[in-house]
Amino acid sequence: MSISLLLLQGKVYGEANDKEKIYKKRMALYKEMESVTFIPWYYYAAIDQYERNVRSVRRDIPKKQNGVISIYFKPEMWSGPNNPNQGDSNPYTIGLFGGMGLDGNGDGSADSNNDRDALYTMATTLSHFGTDRDHLKIALWEYYQRAKTVEIILGYARIYHHYGRLQIEGNAFPVPVRSNHSYRSTFGDKRSFGGRRMHEGTDIFAAHGVPVRATCYGIIELKGWNRLGGWRIGIRDLNNNYHYYAHLGGFAKNIAIGQIVEPGTVIGFVGNTGYGPPGTAGKFPPHLHYGTYKDNGYMEWAYDPYYQLSFWERQERQALKKNR
Ligand SMILES: [Zn+2]
Repeated sequence: MSISLLLLQGKVYGEANDKEKIYKKRMALYKEMESVTFIPWYYYAAIDQYERNVRSVRRDIPKKQNGVISIYFKPEMWSGPNNPNQGDSNPYTIGLFGGMGLDGNGDGSADSNNDRDALYTMATTLSHFGTDRDHLKIALWEYYQRAKTVEIILGYARIYHHYGRLQIEGNAFPVPVRSNHSYRSTFGDKRSFGGRRMHEGTDIFAAHGVPVRATCYGIIELKGWNRLGGWRIGIRDLNNNYHYYAHLGGFAKNIAIGQIVEPGTVIGFVGNTGYGPPGTAGKFPPHLHYGTYKDNGYMEWAYDPYYQLSFWERQERQALKKNR
C-alpha cells in the first residue's frame, strides 16, 4: 500500500471521528435543553438541522465556522429592532430593546454565535407556547411564518424520534441495480405537454413493474395523482433534498403520507402514468421520473440528480461485488 493511500485512509478515519464527536456534542446540548424546557430533544435536533440546511444554501446568512449548533438569529431579532448596537451581547440592553437574545451558558453575555446561548434563546421562545406537539406547531408557525417550514421541521422531529439518534445516513439507487435500466442526463431538456416547461429530473427507463425504492432516509410528504406526473410520491430527507418520483404504475402496500422510509424501502413500481386525468397511462414508454429539489426557507428549486444517481449506482454495485 502506498504512503499516500495510508494518509488518505487516516484522513477519512479522522473525518468520521470528527463527525461522531460533533453529533455527540449536539445531542448533549439538545438533551440539556430538554431537561430545562421539557421540550423533547428531537424538536431541537429538527430545528437545528433545518437551519443548517437553510444556512448551507443561503448567501445572506453568514457561515458558522466553529460551533455545533446552526440556529441563526438576524441581528435585529437578537439585539432588538431599535437597538443602536446590532451586535449587542449585553442581556440587559438587549432586553431593553426587545431583542430575543438570552444568556444560556451563564457567562453574563448573550452571544448569538455561542451554541448554548442560541439554543437556549430558541428554547425559551418556543416554550412560551407549551411543550406538546400541537403547541410547538403553533410556536414554530409564529416563529417561521411558513407552513412548509413547519411541516419540514415536524417531519424531521419524527425521524429523529423514530431512530433515537442523530447520525442517520445512507443512500440507495431508486431501482434495483440488477434490474435492466438506463438513464442519461436530460435535466433542462424541453418538454411540451402541459405547456412549455423544463425537464426537472432524470428519467430512468425500466420495465413496467420494476420496484421503485426510496433513495434515502426520509418521510413521505406527498402521494397521489397529478396530471403531468401521474401517480407520484415525494420524500423529504434530512439533508435538504426533496425526492420526487413520478409516472409510477402503482404504490407499494402500506405506503402512506407521513411514513418514515429508509434507503431501499420499496415505495411503488415503474409505470407510465400521467399526461391526463387520474388513471391515464400508456402515453409514453414506462420509466421512473426522478427529480430532486432544495429549499432555502422561502422557495424550492430543482437541481440535476444525475450525478448522485450514478454515484449511488456505482456504490451499490461495488457493495454487491464485495458481498459476493
Ligand atoms: Zn422525466
